Amino acid sequence: MTSTWVEPSNTATALLLLGRGTDPASEAGVDCPGDLPSPSDPDLVARAMAAKLALGDRVFVLGHHYQRDEVIQFADVTGDSFKLAREAAARPDAEFIVFCGVHFMAESADILTTDAQKVILPDLAAGCSMADMAVLSQVETAWDLFEDLGIAGDVVPVTYMNSSADIKGFVGRNKGVVCTSSNAKRALDWAFEQGSKVFFLPDQHLGRNTAVLEMGYSLDDCVLYDPHKPHGGLAPEQLRNAKMILWRGHCSVHGRFTLPVVEEVRERVPGVNVLVHPECRHEVVTAADYVGSTEYIIKTVEAAPAGSAWAIGTELNLVRRLANAHPDKQIMFLDRTVCYCSTMNRIDLPHLVWALEELVAGRTPNQITVDPDTSAYARSALDQMLALP
Ligand code: SF4
Repeated sequence: MTSTWVEPSNTATALLLLGRGTDPASEAGVDCPGDLPSPSDPDLVARAMAAKLALGDRVFVLGHHYQRDEVIQFADVTGDSFKLAREAAARPDAEFIVFCGVHFMAESADILTTDAQKVILPDLAAGCSMADMAVLSQVETAWDLFEDLGIAGDVVPVTYMNSSADIKGFVGRNKGVVCTSSNAKRALDWAFEQGSKVFFLPDQHLGRNTAVLEMGYSLDDCVLYDPHKPHGGLAPEQLRNAKMILWRGHCSVHGRFTLPVVEEVRERVPGVNVLVHPECRHEVVTAADYVGSTEYIIKTVEAAPAGSAWAIGTELNLVRRLANAHPDKQIMFLDRTVCYCSTMNRIDLPHLVWALEELVAGRTPNQITVDPDTSAYARSALDQMLALP
């Protein structure tokens, strides 16, 4: 059986693929001194190949699974954020790590690599809306509240990899741990051995889904701390009784999937398997057949029998790539409308070519550095994750 990929349609709220059908002048991102190649330059592929060849082993290019195909083709390794940070750390001889992903990932790579290595983000506008939802000053205000209530000693902070270095540093300073979507349960098991409550940052959905669906806590054990409300919008008793204090953050991409789209695809495609990422809302994850990290999604599709049908709730670039790699399976995007990560898509071929050619010219563009103090504490929270049983 051969499947035909159906591209989801644009909607009024959908984002255009950056660099296509838009004004190139507005696509320059920030801080790209010199000439950013035009997206229509027919020599972009040749220029990227030539620059990589000229740099040789001095450069190592990392490509996150949600990156565009035009960028992924130049990645020396692809993976999720944690795998890529480890790959960077395993290449101490590479002078330059070009990170085709978003800002917090480049920060993690800088924390895990040597001082001699330089981590480069081809477009500084490639941030992460989820990571930006937890700002250090807000998190410190919450912690002050826990101290005032006399519960801070019971609380263990856990932050998702998708957070800024500042937040990882805060968690390290307060004897917590970083987690990924693959090891969130193990991280929470460890945290509940250290204290009676967990303060989970910044993705409420991963925290709630892991606690309720994998660890047996109830929805009533979870409270949502809203940094934009006084006292997080919570009464002291709610905080005292809670097991999971969830930060009010979410992924703008995975948060878009809803229960009606799951019901709609089941009606439209009898026998379809619904496979979603744990950053999706609780009701979506509960209604799905399979739930797991990006790496889990890839492995599940690879292992699926020919002819099986899969509606996948994660970033569209990855789902399209899976559909193209498995034409014997019917692979579709869970939503009917587009769902790119707009910040991931900031990294396009012109920005990659620009960054590589700057390196060839002896200049270091868009270097991402984390200050030594923050880096040391963030490193301890990352090391704690690596030491999880
Ligand atoms: S997909 Fe979501 S969590 Fe990942 S970088 Fe984009 S906004 Fe952030």
